[in-house]
Parts: sequence; C-alpha cells; structure tokens
Amino acid sequence: MTSAASEADSPATLTHFIGGRFFIPDGGEFGDVFDPATGKVAARVPMADLDLTREAIAAARQALPSWAGTPPLRRARVMFRFRELLEQNADELARIISSEHGKLHDDASGEVTRGLEVVEFACGIPHLLKGEFSENVGTGVDSWSLRQPVGVCAGITPFNFPAMVPMWMFPVALACGNTFILKPSEKDPSAALYLARLLTEAGLPEGVFNVINGGKQAVDALLTDPDVAAVSFVGSTPVAEYIYTTASAHGKRVQALGGAKNHMVVLPDADIEQAANALMGAAYGSAGERCMAISAAVAVGEAGDRLVETLSPMVRNLKVGPAGSRGSEMGPLVTGEHLERVRDYVEFGVREGAALVVDGRDVEVEGHPGGYYLGGCLFDRVNEGMRIYREEIFGPVLVVLRVADLEEALDLVNRHEFGNGTAIFTTDGRAARRFVHGVEAGMVGVNVPIPVPMAFHSFGGWKRSLFGPLHVHGPDGVRFYTRLKTVTARWPDQGPARAEYTMPTMG
Ligand code: NAD
Repeated sequence: MTSAASEADSPATLTHFIGGRFFIPDGGEFGDVFDPATGKVAARVPMADLDLTREAIAAARQALPSWAGTPPLRRARVMFRFRELLEQNADELARIISSEHGKLHDDASGEVTRGLEVVEFACGIPHLLKGEFSENVGTGVDSWSLRQPVGVCAGITPFNFPAMVPMWMFPVALACGNTFILKPSEKDPSAALYLARLLTEAGLPEGVFNVINGGKQAVDALLTDPDVAAVSFVGSTPVAEYIYTTASAHGKRVQALGGAKNHMVVLPDADIEQAANALMGAAYGSAGERCMAISAAVAVGEAGDRLVETLSPMVRNLKVGPAGSRGSEMGPLVTGEHLERVRDYVEFGVREGAALVVDGRDVEVEGHPGGYYLGGCLFDRVNEGMRIYREEIFGPVLVVLRVADLEEALDLVNRHEFGNGTAIFTTDGRAARRFVHGVEAGMVGVNVPIPVPMAFHSFGGWKRSLFGPLHVHGPDGVRFYTRLKTVTARWPDQGPARAEYTMPTMG
C-alpha cells in the first residue's frame, strides 16, 4: 500500500507511478509529508528530477496511440469501473486525504464525491464526442467536425483538494483519449497514488496514467518538454501565471487556475442568521483552505452590526481539533510553515488597524501540542487598502468590510484582482439579478455561499484567478482535452472537370 503514511510509527516511503509500476527511486531527493494533527513526519516523498520526469513523459507517449485509438465506448467502460471502485473505497480515500491534509473526515468524503461526479460526467464521453455533421454544404459535398485527443497531458495540482482537483482533470482527459501525467502537491501526495491504484484495478492500460511526485524541477520539465501537448494547473496565482506563460511559450495549450478572495455580499433584507450560518461553513470549513472559501464578507448598510454580532459568538465557539475526533468542526492547517504564514497575516491586520473581534491564535488542542491548529479569526472594519483584504490568506480568517449600498458593494468586488467565486445573500430578486449580471467573477451564488459548479458545468474564475480561455471539467473540459478537426468531402465523380484558380465557394 503506497499510502501507508499513518499506519506505521516510522515514516512510510512513497513512490512514483510510471508505466504501470509503483517504485521508489534508488537515489535522489526526498521531501517530508507531515501529519498536520500532530506535526510529526508521516511519510517521505521522492522528488522527481528531469530524467525521471522524462521517463514518465516517454511512458505516456508510448501508451498514447493505442489509448487514443480505443473506441470512446471502451474508454467509458474503464471510467464506469473506476467510478464503482471509487465509491467502494471512498472511505479509505477520505481517510488518506485527512491524514495528510488535516480536513475533517466528512469534509474529505465530500471532496471524494465531488471528484466522483466528474468521473460520472466522463462516463458519458461517447455522447460528448459525437461531433457535428452538415450534409450538402455544396453540391455533392458534405462536411463534419470531430474532436480528437490532444496527446500527452500534464496536471499539476495543489494541496487543498488532493483527490478532487486531480479528478477535475484526468477523468475527462483520459475519456477523451489522452494519456496523463499527474504531479500532485508534495504536501499530500498519497491520494494521487491511491487513485492510480484504483485506475489500474479498473483496467486502465499501463502508461495511460502516471504520477510523478516532486516540485519545481519536475514541473519545469513538464512545461518545456515538446512531447507534452497540454497543461492543466490549479494552485496559487504567481505559480499559475508562471505555468501559463512558460507552457504557452513552449507551444502547449494551458489552463491555469489561480488564487482567490471570494466575497459574500450581505444585503440588509437578508435573513442574517441564515447568512451567518452560511458564512461559518464557507469561511471556516476546511480551515479556510478552499479556493472557493468566502474570505471577505461585504455588509451593506445596517446588515453590518447585526452580522458581526451574530457571527462573533459562533466563531469564538468553533471546535478545533483533529480530523478523526468527534465534535471537531475545523481541523489543523496543512503545515507548520503555512500556519506561521496565516498567523503573520493576523498580526498584519492588527497592525493595519482592523478590529480583531475574535482572535483564534491562542487555541490549544488537548493531546496535540505539535499540531498546526489555529482558531477562527474574525476582523471587522477592514478597508480596501489593507493586506488582509487584498491578499489571499488561505486560512480560517474572515474579514468584514462595510459599504453603503449594493452599487458600492459591486464596485468593491469588481476592483479586486481576483474573480473566482462570489455570492450575494438577499431576499430581493431585483438586487440579486443586478449582482449576477454586473459582478466580475466566474462563479456566482445567490443565497448559496460556495457556488461550485456541478461536474456537467465547467469550473473556473475570471481575472487573475484563471489564466487561459477554458474552465475545467464539463463542456470546457472536453474542449480543452480535444482538438477540433473539420472535414469537407466530395466523391470523385462529382469533382471539378478542370482546374479552377478562384477562391472556392460552395453552391
Ligand atoms: P501552490 O501554487 O504553492 O502549488 C501548486 C502546485 O504547483 C504544486 O503541485 C506545487 O508543487 C507546484 N509549485 C509550487 N511552486 C512552484 C514553482 N515555483 N514552480 C513550479 N511549480 C510549483 O499552491 P498550494 O499552496 O498547493 O495550493 C493553494 C493555492 O491553490 C491557493 O492559492 C488556492 O486559492 C489555489 N487553488 C485554486 C483553485 C481554483 O480553482 N482556482 C482550487 C484549489 C486551490
């Protein structure tokens, strides 16, 4: 079992997965994977170098012709089997996610379900690849468009959804007939290896799906190798921009999803209790380590006082503890380094003059002195110039800004550099419509705090939350992982009787 991180006292050594083989390299660098609940090293992860990354690319390249030539219906059948295995092993996968990420078991189970839904979408690939046909575009001439695989695809994924984000990518890529190399986050790589095991069990041929562990060296090799045709990335904005510019300059198609600062606008007519409940889950669920977390609440008019009064005791009473413990509402942050970074932001906020209504920095979790815990933090009276508002914190820190009316709220949201998701809470349909129409974000919720699109729609942000024209999964996923070919055909007996030198027209 490659994911034995929490099964032994001494750290397990994880593997790569190339050409159908799980293996630990003989030498080279290894990184530490932590158990965030205790702060102990739980596993060692091999860090792929250039040669090893090339080996994975070669395996994916070799497997490509046969997999691309496999009828979509048969590719779909592999996906159906993979879907069954995912469902049967969902609990184990959720346990693996929690052990390295720290999120609650139920939260990890939800992540698995959202990934499984993309697999279900990919099971419909014969229908999705049907193409278009026009009969008689000219006399005796027919024309049709079809979608073919792009080739070897690479996915580079973040720590915060170690199973779901890879599943935003590879089920669609594989179903479309591509081969795939996944480079998961080095902070929690075991879920990716477990998914590789399930895909193998589902009957996916060797080399069609590969996992290389590592960091920048492996990523750079993927971005520049001529045999990689497409790169999907999800992570922070500076890295997303780097991935987009580097891979594009090397002739690849790229979709690079970046960071976020998701706003929830609360109008005075909203049910404040409902809005506060929604904010608690959206801001503090998964310790705020979600790209769709709400990290900024924009209170309009008199909603401000009521919202902060309702939220404060809820944040103060949040139960922080290890993922497996009954009653925990929020787990630890992913690493000690990330915990320090988030704590620094809380300090910036205090120094910048925001009102720290709830300070979670003193939280202690019994029996887990080394865990990376932080209690919920709530800032009020935050303004647009403050770093805690401008930058993505990616922790359990919610900032509240106050504005006079809906137009001011819209302008504020639209001035922010990120435009991933956003939400409005109101009972006024006209206000909701104005917001949906005017807001500059890729995903919008009306009385829904985390509007993550279902698998059969596409997921993606605007502005500096996404580099590239296409979103992930859903129809955009199929567009991204296929190339369009349009054929125009005429049979010889209807062809021209003599050479023609004018621009051909039909009719
Ligand atoms: P990250 O950018 O640090 O890492 C993401 C991936 O890039 C990892 O696989 C990592 O190994 C690799 N990487 C890191 N630095 C690199 C470099 N200099 N060169 C090449 N590769 C590099 O992100 P993270 O901390 O793992 O994840 C959190 C971030 O991901 C947050 O910013 C969050 O908003 C974002 N995120 C966005 C979405 C979205 O849908 N837009 C979804 C999930 C997470």
